[in-house]
Amino acid sequence: MARAVARVDLDAVAHNVRTLAAAASGARLCAVVKANAYGHGAEACARAAQAAGADWLAVAGAAEAASLREAGVGGRLLVMGSLDDEDLGLALAADADIVVWDEAFLAALPSTARVHVKLDSGMGRLGTRDPVLATRLVEQAGARLAGAMTHFATADDRADPFMDEQLQRFTAWVGPLRAARPELVVHAANSAAILREPAAHFDMVRPGVALYGLDPFGEDAAAAGLRPALALVSHVAAVKRCRAGESTGYGRRFVADRDTVLATVPVGYGDGWRRATTGRADVLVGGTFRPQVGTVSMDNITVDLGPAGLDEVAVGDEVVLVGPGLSAEEVAARSETINYEVTTALLPRTARAHH
Ligand code: PLP
Repeated sequence: MARAVARVDLDAVAHNVRTLAAAASGARLCAVVKANAYGHGAEACARAAQAAGADWLAVAGAAEAASLREAGVGGRLLVMGSLDDEDLGLALAADADIVVWDEAFLAALPSTARVHVKLDSGMGRLGTRDPVLATRLVEQAGARLAGAMTHFATADDRADPFMDEQLQRFTAWVGPLRAARPELVVHAANSAAILREPAAHFDMVRPGVALYGLDPFGEDAAAAGLRPALALVSHVAAVKRCRAGESTGYGRRFVADRDTVLATVPVGYGDGWRRATTGRADVLVGGTFRPQVGTVSMDNITVDLGPAGLDEVAVGDEVVLVGPGLSAEEVAARSETINYEVTTALLPRTARAHH
């Protein structure tokens, strides 16, 4: 029995691709599978997304593009992040499109490269803030130009009007470009923007988190018609009595105030179950919520089963850390992070089982 398994439902990924494509009303869909598909397994999710109709894939780095190609994944592929010389070679060898915002970088690219010019409309990370430079890049790209793009900073916050400002800036820049070059792929929307703002859909949308059935607003994925794809499951490895005054774990952060029974579950921060869940996250043991107690260690957590635990729980019983009844949004809220990080944090030691 594996210590901890991330079970990934590829039908759910396919369902989410179709749901998002329908929401994007005719725009093409670029499935964002960076960071090992937010922890869900890049190769399997990329294939599932393509089979469900995704036209493009996107990753952050060239090495991610190379490993998808090594696994035999075909189709259009966009590397969205910055590239040093070595990365650039890898990205081009992977036949990936790349993103440009700098004249010298563009000038050095071979004539066969395919580029997307990025306007920084307010995210303040990659891209040029200067629409005049962006237009110059479009002209200099010549036949290499494949698309134009931007990225939103606050799409996940419906109350924040900054996304509208960004959208106006981007729309003003791409308007003439779209009229002059209708073959270009213009794209901007992440998951939240797809669900929130039809005017942000343009020719292609770039969902990440919602592909995996995670709610980009950190609320209720089901309300958006999304199906969570991942369940993180382990099992009870040991059950023992803990008398009042005895403790469990590093730092003795849990000292029993009554006689109780503890279960040890072989999953920890070495698997990507974050230490910040210490004392905060409940888990489901045999379908019943039980509090995680004591410090999360690298390889194990402990769970308080209560005084009747020996009668109620046995070694081998299933423990669900994320899954039906216990969403990544809920775990995130309890450990002061976002659902994105709950799944992306899962490390290679956690087996992925795709079904
Ligand atoms: N586009 C870009 C440039 C990104 O960096 C990301 C992820 O951060 C996405 C799209 C997908 O965003 P989300 O996971 O919020 O849908």
